[in-house]
Amino acid sequence: MRILVQKFGGTSVRNLECMQQVERKVLHALDEGYKVITVLSAMSGETDRLLELARQWSRRPDPAEKDVLVATGEQVSVALFTMLLKDRGLKARSVLGFQAAITTDDAYCKARIHEIDTDRLLEMLEAHDVLVVAGFQGCDPDRRITTLGRGGSDTSAVALAAAVKAERCDIYTDVDGVYTTDPNICSKARKMKKISYDVMLEFAGMGAKVLQIRSVEFAKKFNVPVQVRSTFTDGPGTLVTKEDDTMEAVMVSGIAYDKDQCRITVRQVPDRPGIAAAIFTPLAAAKILVDMIIQNASLDGKTDMTFTICRGDLDQTLEILEGVKAELGAGEVLYDTQVCKVSAIGVGMRNHSGVAAKMFTTLKKENINILMISTSEIKITCLIEEKYTELAVRTLHDVFELAAGQ
Ligand code: ASP
Ligand code: MG
Repeated sequence: MRILVQKFGGTSVRNLECMQQVERKVLHALDEGYKVITVLSAMSGETDRLLELARQWSRRPDPAEKDVLVATGEQVSVALFTMLLKDRGLKARSVLGFQAAITTDDAYCKARIHEIDTDRLLEMLEAHDVLVVAGFQGCDPDRRITTLGRGGSDTSAVALAAAVKAERCDIYTDVDGVYTTDPNICSKARKMKKISYDVMLEFAGMGAKVLQIRSVEFAKKFNVPVQVRSTFTDGPGTLVTKEDDTMEAVMVSGIAYDKDQCRITVRQVPDRPGIAAAIFTPLAAAKILVDMIIQNASLDGKTDMTFTICRGDLDQTLEILEGVKAELGAGEVLYDTQVCKVSAIGVGMRNHSGVAAKMFTTLKKENINILMISTSEIKITCLIEEKYTELAVRTLHDVFELAAGQ
């Protein structure tokens, strides 16, 4: 059985007209001889609408019930779309997360997939041409509904593709591929034909928004080729795949940025063993992702600890740090939400020196102050003031000659 997984985002299912475009893609895959698993997101704006409803009662509604609520968005999409396919005479059925036995942990609102009942899915596929699966949702061992975090339908799709050993996972969206940077702020951004899992991970991690980061982790782990393409055009899009030699030749493949950042500083922490653990353990326990971390050189046995988190985690982080502060006898906790991470990314960096220096020089020429720096094998990231994001991205895109093509 040749299986293709196709995932369609919210803008692709926002109304009947768009759903007909989706149907076209499904019919095309059937023509090519595939059995199709179509994974759908909620209609665009629906998840936000539901989250807003949840916030009527409190700023932090019960996470388990929030999942029951937001998972309905995808249920609406799959029901409507399956009706459309059935009217066309196709053998199709809708499948909700629990029906595909997509088992997750119980981290509501950001659950991780542990297991999928492949036999059950394959059985259903034998009997149907198309399974229309609700993205974003699963269920925990206690059979409570969970969701996989914003953008989680991508992860549903890739996980399903890995489970049934699909030939490929096509992620259909409203852009026609992965660009060297965000085309909305840099008109010279260029679509890439192919990109490695690792570079894509950095792009996704930096809020490139095309794919949820976990979906790329999954794809890499199970070696699922992922094609990012547009529902509304017929181009091949961008293939996210294993690294090859041509990718190594390029020093920088793209410039990513992420405005969903907040910088936190805990002042005057005593400089002794166990302090970092005391600060970051409770944050980890609350499943708050901490990214760039800097500990200053200490003065008189005291030091400042600075790190970044996502803006949505700010309230909870401040709450936790209040407790930590009292326990450690630390100074005040400061935060700044007007910051942005800008990164130069590329596997070629492993063998080229000077990328960091070039990036710092470029920012200096534009008079942009660097607040924090972090590096990895294939990425250099600078935290800057948010108002300089566009300027930084455009200039770096120019300096690394990304418009010219590979
Ligand atoms: N509907 C969910 C969201 O808006 C999941 C997804 O679309 O991937 O985040
Ligand atoms: Mg998405």
